[in-house]
Amino acid sequence: MSAAFPPLRDELRGIEPYGAPQLDPALVPVQLNVNENPYGPSPETAADIAHAVGEAATTLNRYPDREFVELRSALAAYLNGSGGSGITPEMVWAANGSNEVMLQLLQAFGGPGRVALSFAPTYSMYPEYARDALTEWHAGRRAEDFSLDLDAARELVLDKRPVVVLLPSPNNPTGTALPPEAVTMLCEAAASYEPGGLVVVDEAYGEFRRAGTPSALELLPQHRNLVVTRTMSKAFALAGARVGYLAADPAVCDAIRVVRLPYHLSAVTQATALAALRHAPELLGRVDDLRVERDATVEWLRREGFEVADSDANFVLFGRFAERHAVWRGLVDRGVLIRETGPDGWLRVSIGTAEEMTAFKDALLETVRQTSEERPA
Ligand SMILES: *Cc1c(COP(=O)(O)O)cnc(C)c1O
Repeated sequence: MSAAFPPLRDELRGIEPYGAPQLDPALVPVQLNVNENPYGPSPETAADIAHAVGEAATTLNRYPDREFVELRSALAAYLNGSGGSGITPEMVWAANGSNEVMLQLLQAFGGPGRVALSFAPTYSMYPEYARDALTEWHAGRRAEDFSLDLDAARELVLDKRPVVVLLPSPNNPTGTALPPEAVTMLCEAAASYEPGGLVVVDEAYGEFRRAGTPSALELLPQHRNLVVTRTMSKAFALAGARVGYLAADPAVCDAIRVVRLPYHLSAVTQATALAALRHAPELLGRVDDLRVERDATVEWLRREGFEVADSDANFVLFGRFAERHAVWRGLVDRGVLIRETGPDGWLRVSIGTAEEMTAFKDALLETVRQTSEERPA
């Protein structure tokens, strides 16, 4: 056997699988590293989900509804009450997390000789979808304050002619939302060449946006090439169920149906998502509390002299540290897990319960006091 076993694709050699550290909650009890909703379902909602799954279990000998019609209808109804209007079930697609939705978009619309584009710093999974769909990846830069320089962005789109532009709004890891004029500009630029590009606005954190920040869903009627993705993993408090979805022109959904694996959404997943959607008001009920906690965390960090990016999401990027790894480590040693991600010198903390945020603040102050060279300038 040669040293090359297994015969991996050349571009995958030596690559570490993506993933934030999953540390034992018994050892590191305050887990603020993957932007989960800290509030789980109530016993009543959990019982209803379990009941729906129990019913689905009686027919698990059969394949599930391949077109998940009922779930698409329920998601369309939810979106029409959450910033969208006129969204029909044919305009909705779902998969096992919005990560799978976006991979399917790249599988359908990317490919050799085609380009996918984003603006860094941004979500670290995007280049992986492009790689896995054999699509050329290109990343422009965001401005110093992590916003998008519209003129530079338009020029880059016209130059690279991407078939897919991927942009989170709010952006991960910075928390920056895209103004509607940026979405419009990108959609117009991406419609101006052949074969044209899709603009995918990834609203994984859309429900956390601040008052006055509109959703890109509002722009769907104006732009045929606009795709808005959402997830049940964050605001919806359902990360464990793996359900993400998009709203777009029905032709986009039809194209994805060509590349999706057969019966990709299991009967258990469909039953879980439908039951959860029936309890949407409860599951989303803590979003307002989390937004208040987020704004308070931003203010507190600024008062303590840290640099903080404005956030429309359920996390905050703050810094800057000469040795961010030492600060991250100091927090872990004090039972608080946050995320070492984003531009050099910055760290990201997810918004948890009030008690968890108190633990975070205490651990952070102790850590920077102890390692005084990490004090922000
Ligand atoms: C968390 C996150 C998602 C959601 O991923 P799921 O696969 O739906 O759990 C998508 N985009 C961004 C930018 C995220 O941070």
